[in-house]
Amino acid sequence: MARYTGPVCRLCRREGAKLYLKGDRCYTGKCAIDRRGYAPGQHGQGRKKMSEYGLQLREKQKARRIYGILENQFRNYFEKAESQKGVTGENLLRLLERRLDNVVYRLGFAGSRVEARQLVRHGHFTVNGKKVNIPSFLTRIGEVIEVREKSRDNVRIKELAEQAARKTPPAWLEVNADQFAGKVVAVPSREDIDIPIEEHLIIELYSR
Ligand code: SF4
Repeated sequence: MARYTGPVCRLCRREGAKLYLKGDRCYTGKCAIDRRGYAPGQHGQGRKKMSEYGLQLREKQKARRIYGILENQFRNYFEKAESQKGVTGENLLRLLERRLDNVVYRLGFAGSRVEARQLVRHGHFTVNGKKVNIPSFLTRIGEVIEVREKSRDNVRIKELAEQAARKTPPAWLEVNADQFAGKVVAVPSREDIDIPIEEHLIIELYSR
């Protein structure tokens, strides 16, 4: 599956919000939003008033960019969320959260979702003992996500595991950083999903 490979800070500036796409750098004074908190391009500092459609579109783009998903795949998630019982917006966020790359990030085994995606792609993780290198793999309750035995000596992965041991994962995940492992113990609730998204705007956009 293709992905966006351009400058990521530009995406935050476009959305006017920190999307935390660069890991540790996002928490330093080097963050582009802190230094140039206006949209990129010639008219970036111009008119700010947005139409209703504009607001809905920006919210959808923000969610897509946070999770690193292209348009077609994002729409597929929406259609799947719509076919499920419950509130479509929450279903959509739940599906996005359950992606393996996001779970690896939430467990603390990656500094950003971009890094998580790369680590998964390179085959560093197993799910219930089987190697899975598909970032969009949807995890389920009870599944155990582990760093593969042969990847545990990797310097970056060791460093991340040490950091993970000091972090608290969201309530729907359990982490055992010493064992390079984590587990999905529940379905994520809306309160567990701490992203700055008003999902109802996305649903309104797709329902036009
Ligand atoms: Fe966004 Fe992080 Fe870049 Fe700041 S440093 S603009 S939060 S990706």
